[in-house]
Amino acid sequence: MKYIDEFRRSDLAQGLVSQIQHRSRTPVRFMEFCGGHTVTIFRYGIRQLLPPNIEMVSGPGCPVCVTSNADLDKAIALAKIPQAIIATFGDMLKVPGSRSSLQQAKADGADVRMVYSALDAIKMARENQDRPVVFLGIGFETTAPTIAASILQAQQQGIKNYYVISMLKLCPPVIRAILDSGEIKLDGLVCPGHVSVITGSTAWQFIAKDYGIPCVVSGFEPVDILQCVAMLVEQVESERCEVEIAYRRGVQPQGNKEALKLMRQVFQPATASWRGVGEVPGSGLRIRDDYRQFDAERAFAIEPGETYEPKGCICGEVLRGVKTPLDCKLFGKACTPQYPVGPCMVSSEGSCAAYYNYARDADG
Ligand code: SF4
Repeated sequence: MKYIDEFRRSDLAQGLVSQIQHRSRTPVRFMEFCGGHTVTIFRYGIRQLLPPNIEMVSGPGCPVCVTSNADLDKAIALAKIPQAIIATFGDMLKVPGSRSSLQQAKADGADVRMVYSALDAIKMARENQDRPVVFLGIGFETTAPTIAASILQAQQQGIKNYYVISMLKLCPPVIRAILDSGEIKLDGLVCPGHVSVITGSTAWQFIAKDYGIPCVVSGFEPVDILQCVAMLVEQVESERCEVEIAYRRGVQPQGNKEALKLMRQVFQPATASWRGVGEVPGSGLRIRDDYRQFDAERAFAIEPGETYEPKGCICGEVLRGVKTPLDCKLFGKACTPQYPVGPCMVSSEGSCAAYYNYARDADG
């Protein structure tokens, strides 16, 4: 199959591993921002293939994991509105909020349904015109344009019972916040591929320019990641600091202008609350006033109650790359994919789930 098989070829992977081993001399710490990259790295044992002077740490690029408990509590409160249908991506169901989860709300009688896209939720709204349908808008720049499109579609088609709660987030501001914290020193960034399809690679220029950290945009197959690491190593060893693309089949420097236009038409940047990082100005997307009738937060008075963090869970530190799941006392004991305590164990892109599934007995 074109564009999949060739990026899993062991001879290509082995060649890149040899290239990295031959070229890499400097001790470096690279962060993969994206949870999709984390899963590939663990599934294919990429950390073990790299020389010991290359440390890979996982970043906050899992939309479910970074959704704060306060936002989760709002979503759970929305599920309690009489007659409401909550439409959500499946990973959100099991994530525990302060007191409950959407799955628990469903078990208690709320109508919570899994969808694959915002357009499924629009269809649901059309088929249930006497009930409010609230779509939980979770995701990064990758997802935001389709959610924007769903709001425009609802407006064009006169659908009056469709609402979105925007918990959407923008990646560049949170990377800046993590770097500004000074908590972790990085020598290279594996930039997110899917996000970059929309934003373009130019979105990461500030990291190279302002922080002197080499950046390479990567795809999601093992050969993509190894190629990305080889390019980062090459930049470090030749003392260059640029933004490069190791995912040419998906990413252009300027991104997808149409998708960005859609996103900016419907949403405006706002402060967002990230699990583990806190409030980051300009890192969220709020529905613009022109489309306020679709904004669930403005349409419904909800009482989410006080927010509590799960006791003993260190998801926040894991998301900032300063600790690994193995540092968590609950990992594999009180917290497993069957009985998750924090979101990083629930999400298919979560670091704790990746460690649990692929590296339970070793440190990466
Ligand atoms: Fe949180 Fe569980 Fe991960 Fe610990 S293992 S950080 S409790 S999700």
